[in-house]
Amino acid sequence: MSTMKAIRIHTPGPEENMILEDVAIPSPKPGEALVKLEASGVNFIDIYFRTGLYPAPEKPFLIGMEGAGVVTALGEGVTGLQVGDRVAFASQRGSYAQYISVPAWMLVPVPAGLDLEMAACLMLQGMTVHYLTHSTFPLAAGHTCLVHAASGGVGLLLVQVAKMLGATVIGTVSTDAKEQLARQAGADHVLRYDGFSAQVKELTGGKGVDVVYDSVGKDTFDGSLDSLKPRGMMVTFGNASGPVPPVAPLALTQRGSLFLTRPKLADYTLTRDELLLRAGDVMRWKLDNRIQVHIDRRYSLAQAAQAHQDLAGRKTSGKLIISTT
Ligand code: NDP
Repeated sequence: MSTMKAIRIHTPGPEENMILEDVAIPSPKPGEALVKLEASGVNFIDIYFRTGLYPAPEKPFLIGMEGAGVVTALGEGVTGLQVGDRVAFASQRGSYAQYISVPAWMLVPVPAGLDLEMAACLMLQGMTVHYLTHSTFPLAAGHTCLVHAASGGVGLLLVQVAKMLGATVIGTVSTDAKEQLARQAGADHVLRYDGFSAQVKELTGGKGVDVVYDSVGKDTFDGSLDSLKPRGMMVTFGNASGPVPPVAPLALTQRGSLFLTRPKLADYTLTRDELLLRAGDVMRWKLDNRIQVHIDRRYSLAQAAQAHQDLAGRKTSGKLIISTT
C-alpha cells in the first residue's frame, strides 16, 4: 500500500493534536479524481474543525479544505478531466496532505499563467468574497460597507473587491501594521474595534452602513447591528472570536427592520456552473491584476500547527499557505 504524509487529528483540541503521519494514499471512488497536491491554503475553518467547533463525522480525521495540484488518477465514470490536468478546489476536507481525492465536479481547471500556489490561495477566500459581494449583498457605487478583520485573508480581498464595485469601505483591524495593509488594499476608513459602531455612525453622518460583513462573530455582533442603517443587512459569516449566541428577532426590529443572514461558501457553490463562475471570475481578477494577494507566510506540512497558532493568535495578515511537496 502506498502512503503519503498528512496531518491527522485523533482528538479535537489544541494545535499539538495536529500530528504529521504516514497514511494511505486515497483511491478515487467513482466520480472522484486523485490530486497530487502542490499547495494547501490555510483557512480559519481548519481551526474550527481542529478544535471540534465544527465536528468531523469520522475519527481520526484529516483537515484543510483548499488546495491545488495535478490530477494523477481518475475514478470510474469521470469525464472532462485527464491525468496531468492542473486543478484547484475549496470545500473538500483533507488538503493538509500530499494527495487528496476530490469529487470531479468540484475541481476547477487552473488557467495557464496562474501558478498552483496562487490558485490554492484564491479558491476559498476568493470565492467567499465573490458570493458575499455579488450574491449575499450585491455591492454597487453608493453603498457603504463595514468589513471586520479587514487585513485578514478574506478581509484584504473583500476590501479590494468592494472598491472594485464602487462601494465605500470602512474596515476594522487590531494593529497599526494591519491598518496600513487595509489602507493599501483600498479601505476608505480604518478603525480599531473599540467603540467602532459610534465611529461608523459618525463617518456615515448618523445614518449607518448598508451592509456589515462580520467574520469576527461573538465580539463584534452587537456593535455590527448598531452600525447598520434601517433595513441594512447583517452578514455574519465567521466565528474568529467565537460563535454568536442566539439572537431575538426583536433585536432586528429595534435597530430598524434589519436583515440577518449566516451564509457559507458551500451554499453559494451548489452547482458546477456556479462554482466555475465564481472561481473563474476570481482567477481572472488575479490574472488581470485587478486584485493582489498578500501571501503573509509559507509553511511546510510539518509546520501546520505553527500556522494555526499564528492565525488564531491574530499574528497574520492576508494568506497563509502550506507547501505540500
Ligand atoms: P483571517 O485571516 O481573517 O484571520 C482572522 C482574523 O480575525 C484575525 O487576523 C484577526 O484580525 C480577527 N480577529 C478578531 N477577533 C479575533 C479573535 N478573538 N481571535 C482570532 N482572530 C480574531 O482568517 P480567514 O480569512 O481565514 O477567515 C476570516 C473569517 O471568515 C473567519 O471567521 C472564517 O471562518 C470566515 N469565513 C467564512 C466563510 C463562509 O463562507 N462562511 C468562508 C471563509 C471564511 P485583527 O487582529 O485585525 O482583528
